[in-house]
Amino acid sequence: MSEPRRFDPARAMAAAKHEFGEHGGVNMSVEASTTFTVMAADTMPDIFAGEKGPVQGGCYLYGRHFNPTVFALGRSLAAMENTGAGYACASGLAAISAAVMQICDAGDHCVVSDTIYGGTYALFKDYLPLKTGITCTFVDANDADAVRAAMRPNTKVVYAETMANPTLKVPDLPALAEIAHAAGARLVVDNTFCPMMVTPANLGADVVVHSLTKFINGASDIIAGAVCASEEFILELMDLHTGSLMILGPTMDPSVAFHIAMRLPHLGVRMTEHSRRAQLFAERLEDLGVPVHYPGLASHPNHARLRGMLNPGYGFGGLLALDLGSEPRAQEFMERLQNKHAFGFMAVSLGYFDTLMSCSGSSTSSEMTDEDKARAGISPGLVRMSLGLTGNVEDRWSQLAETLDTLNMLGSKPKTQAG
Ligand SMILES: *Cc1c(COP(=O)(O)O)cnc(C)c1O
Repeated sequence: MSEPRRFDPARAMAAAKHEFGEHGGVNMSVEASTTFTVMAADTMPDIFAGEKGPVQGGCYLYGRHFNPTVFALGRSLAAMENTGAGYACASGLAAISAAVMQICDAGDHCVVSDTIYGGTYALFKDYLPLKTGITCTFVDANDADAVRAAMRPNTKVVYAETMANPTLKVPDLPALAEIAHAAGARLVVDNTFCPMMVTPANLGADVVVHSLTKFINGASDIIAGAVCASEEFILELMDLHTGSLMILGPTMDPSVAFHIAMRLPHLGVRMTEHSRRAQLFAERLEDLGVPVHYPGLASHPNHARLRGMLNPGYGFGGLLALDLGSEPRAQEFMERLQNKHAFGFMAVSLGYFDTLMSCSGSSTSSEMTDEDKARAGISPGLVRMSLGLTGNVEDRWSQLAETLDTLNMLGSKPKTQAG
């Protein structure tokens, strides 16, 4: 077994500078101003010249550039990801597109994992080539030789997700970092599925992007994103004249930053519980002969690799996928779970406190061809579950087992501890 990594994001976040509210409150205040005053007129030119920003001199200028509340959330996220700085913005896709466009100029090239979030896929496949002339080659990110072979002299970005939807494959991040760096490119990693569990910057990633919409916020009520990277890169993104976040303007509202900051302290507890339930259910499903993909199972092809990359204590994640054999059976399975048992919801997205389930082949991966789906292991009956943490675990298991039994998915009697 590999040596456990010593980095603990919970500890790093707790040790990051604590924000006091305006009146000494234990919570930070929401800074609602869009513009900030200077006490001497000659301070203004210095701010515009980049000589007095929030990180040198503490001068704020305008809310799209830096808002103190949004900036404080960025500092917590940077502590979590062990990067020099972090910046929160309006959505995960805003963070991804800003990071890629900051690194690449027209004519540059990216090597991109072929198993990524649908919106990110559309960004690289269609939007960037059309609007910016930034091109890309899609490759199997788990095949280091294929990644190396796709690198070109003008490749600036290697892009992958820590855990790929929906079969939960895990690329070898240190290997990807080595290939990127040898070619003078940067490794950009989307860590949306694995906050706390994996710290890509400790494994060689240069830029870590997040959809805060998922586990980090955890309540499916806010769309938000973040970029975590070196202070130099974050300042580039915010540059008044050339920064993608400053110029394209996907700004986070300070009240949104406040709400997310109030949920960060229990992210670790939530991830641990999502993972504990997913692990338990995946093991029982496997015992009962139900085809299940979960990286916490020794049978998952990337189990050992992920174990070697994990921060201890947060488990193998809250997502699992099970194969019901056909799309109609997958639909019946989800309908019974939602409408008979209130086990969870038929909805896309993930990281909610309740269970969310969707049939990947006909929803979040529906843009793929049948051939690509088959190659990626996305069968028509595959149901992705983001396991929630509400309710009693054994009650939830009884609901799941009963539903599978009704669909004749269980060879033997379900092992329900609840009787
Ligand atoms: C949801 C998601 C995104 C996009 O995030 P938004 O906040 O919806 O813009 C990007 N990457 C992954 C892995 C996601 O799950």
